[in-house]
Amino acid sequence: MSPALAALAVFPGLALGGFLNVVAARVPLKRSLVRPGSACMSCKAPIVWYDNIPLISYFALRGRCRSCGARIGLVYPAVEITAAVLVAGCLLAFGLTFYAAIAAFFCCVLVAISAIDIEHRIVPDRIVLPATLIVLAAQLVRDPSLEWPLAAFLAALFLFIAAVVYPAGMGMGDVKLALLMGAMLGKVVSVALIIGMVSAVIPGMYLLARHGRSARKMGIPFAPFLALGSVIALFAGEWLLDAYLGVLRS
Ligand SMILES: [Zn+2]
Repeated sequence: MSPALAALAVFPGLALGGFLNVVAARVPLKRSLVRPGSACMSCKAPIVWYDNIPLISYFALRGRCRSCGARIGLVYPAVEITAAVLVAGCLLAFGLTFYAAIAAFFCCVLVAISAIDIEHRIVPDRIVLPATLIVLAAQLVRDPSLEWPLAAFLAALFLFIAAVVYPAGMGMGDVKLALLMGAMLGKVVSVALIIGMVSAVIPGMYLLARHGRSARKMGIPFAPFLALGSVIALFAGEWLLDAYLGVLRS
């Protein structure tokens, strides 16, 4: 697909990001996604449509509620931009295909889960489990292969063992997230797990250097790192895996 055409996907992508913000704000609180309409988290004032335009409203309001002036988290525009870039990226990389649709759905779920994990330190079952079933079914329809369920199982098993060995590092939510990753990525889920774990070490070391022993108890949300690894694996996993295996053979 031409870059210009993919760029068009940025606009629906931003709107999708706006919806992901609603998901991220409401699912952990077990609230309905449709009713009531959006309201300020601080003063409960309803948000009028022109203050609810993805990205634009955030900057027009300078990141504050129109009624009470409470700060609107930077996570809102970040979610919108990330979702838009990833959806456009899926179209650019995979064309107007069924696979691109599954990949875009997968990216959107990762964005919502990351936003929730950063805010609440949980990976909600109510998102990750249905998303895993949807992705697994779609992958099996597209390409009936044992690769998808097998990768899901092995990735989850790997993180389960890691969670048992080092309980401070990750939780069962991350294990369920690995199911989703494996179902989408197949064998390149290995690339996603390695990048996710290596990238999580960097802020971990920073906390350890800054807070010493107490850093062990602080814990960092792990899902955003797994999501980062997943996105890199989605777009470049085959290439990275081939390069790595090539190095091993030479
Ligand atoms: Zn307010």
